[in-house]
Amino acid sequence: MPARDAPPLQLILDRVYARLRDEVDRGKVADYIPELKHVDPQRLGLSIQMVDGQSFHAGDADTPFSIQSVSKVFTLTLALGKVGDALWRRVGREPSGSAFNSIVQLEYEHGIPRNPLINAGAIVVADVILAGHAPREAIGEIVRFVRFLADDDTITIDPEVARSETATGFRNHALANYMRAFGNLHHDVDKVLGVYFHHCALSLSCRQLARAGAFLANRGRLVGGANSVVSEERARRINALMLTCGHYDGSGDFAFRVGLPGKSGVGGGILAIAPGIASIAVWSPGLNANGNSQLGSRALEMIAREADWSIFSG
Ligand code: GLU
Repeated sequence: MPARDAPPLQLILDRVYARLRDEVDRGKVADYIPELKHVDPQRLGLSIQMVDGQSFHAGDADTPFSIQSVSKVFTLTLALGKVGDALWRRVGREPSGSAFNSIVQLEYEHGIPRNPLINAGAIVVADVILAGHAPREAIGEIVRFVRFLADDDTITIDPEVARSETATGFRNHALANYMRAFGNLHHDVDKVLGVYFHHCALSLSCRQLARAGAFLANRGRLVGGANSVVSEERARRINALMLTCGHYDGSGDFAFRVGLPGKSGVGGGILAIAPGIASIAVWSPGLNANGNSQLGSRALEMIAREADWSIFSG
């Protein structure tokens, strides 16, 4: 729980926003997905969704952005709901220590991706969700799930981002074809990637994202409702994967600095979970060398420290 003398959360967010708003060193906006490079690097949004229902916001918290790989947390949750622990026969649970789109590791490990939060792993997860569906039905199921979690039917996919990535996602095509060669994709590569690119193109604001992730802070239950999304054990395990694998080869550093399970996306968003307390969504489009939001990581470091939320605090 937060230390008794921690400042009020709105004050913390306002202070963090004021300190970072005019920062000059904001990292570099991802440009390998052409549609993403038009995003204004000056944007900075911060939201906290408490498990007791309160929420706090600062800056551009209501501007939707491309959540990209943060969506892997939601597709992982859906796939586990469909096939349970059988998923782990096709995807590992170890940190990769490699870039988000690395191909070398797949060769050593015979087409079994290291974890579900790197691109290769999330492509296998998309293949699982596709089973028994046409791609558009699988995409619809993912959108409905995220809307349900966020309690917000306005959430959509940005079709321009999806199109842009479909046209330029050569590495993801390589990863998918490689896994297909090992028999670890069961559907047509283009269909699987269609699902993957579309869920990466989900567009959410920090407010919506913090709300959508709050079940992971609330023992698997929706905030403000009796509905269970997943069991307590599953929520705990997803959090464990986010802590160890959620920031690609920057996962160790994120745990060191922030001390919370988190998942980043190249759109500059990060979802972090303070188990039993709150979920936090931050967004700043500039990325650091590991492809994680530069100011977003700093904002989370400041929030976790000021609120005393690190899971490693005594
Ligand atoms: N859609 C992106 C890709 O596959 C996701 C990467 C990320 O957000 O880290 O390249």
